[in-house]
Amino acid sequence: MRAAMLHGPGDLRIEEVADPEPRPGEALVRVEAATTCGTDVKMWRRGHPILPPYPARFGHETAGVREDTGERVLVGDSLACGECRPCRSERPQICRSPRWILGGFAEALAAPEGALHSVPDGLEPAGAAMAEPLAAALHAVGRAPGRAVAPDAGVLGGGPMGQMLAALLVAEGRTVTVADRHAERREQAAALAAMTTEELADHDVVFEAVGRPEAWRAAVQAAAPGGVVVFVGGCAAGSDARLPTRPLHYDELDLRGAFHHAPAEVDRALALLAAGTVDWRALAAGPIALEELADALAAGNEGPARKWVVEPR
Ligand SMILES: [Zn+2]
Ligand SMILES: [Zn+2]
Repeated sequence: MRAAMLHGPGDLRIEEVADPEPRPGEALVRVEAATTCGTDVKMWRRGHPILPPYPARFGHETAGVREDTGERVLVGDSLACGECRPCRSERPQICRSPRWILGGFAEALAAPEGALHSVPDGLEPAGAAMAEPLAAALHAVGRAPGRAVAPDAGVLGGGPMGQMLAALLVAEGRTVTVADRHAERREQAAALAAMTTEELADHDVVFEAVGRPEAWRAAVQAAAPGGVVVFVGGCAAGSDARLPTRPLHYDELDLRGAFHHAPAEVDRALALLAAGTVDWRALAAGPIALEELADALAAGNEGPARKWVVEPR
């Protein structure tokens, strides 16, 4: 079979490799669609702490068909250990020793059965693959107060994550404003019935979906007194953010991290995609072949928010 292999930063090759051999408790999944995200760009450009040693397979938003049962599945990208302190307090998304499941940019991968989620009838593979990032968006929304307490939400960053957050918040009946400097991304948010701006101010809850220290600071500055800031975008390793102390103290701002998702959130995301509550087609670009993946990742962050749909077969 063919697989995308990373041999080092910026060195992506499509290679003919042997079919993966599932170990006990694993299933072979033939990949129908894998979508790209910002994490893939980081993995390709500079490597990533969760990548195995080179040569490494990657791609973590993956939908396909189980070879043994024929069931359509989303391959969850992680399996929590179930034993560490966060796992024992029912926060598997911050498990101390998760097993990461990478390798969606290939014709097949072997995955633990515990990481497989059944795909609802009628949901296409590319839409199912997007349940992975949508689950993270659901998790982030769950970290914020509900609509009754926080009816007015700001989203900083109109990339795929910001667009997914906006879609979920609009569906909950909140007033949503998305800030992004790209006009195309503001148009995408407006199509979701969000308001748009280049700079947020005075929101009950602010979601930071950029992942840069200066954006973390701007998110804090955009919260109303008594407001909540949810940090969804991870910054480069070693980053520090300078935050203004005055609103943290005198306005009693509440700052919360949001990382990853729990398995139940993946199932909820699949159901929302199948129901059309979140329109995955608005973010889909392609489909492309494995051979086009490097160019797609290199296209970077300019232009509209989009996720490339890779069809490896
Ligand atoms: Zn992702
Ligand atoms: Zn754990």
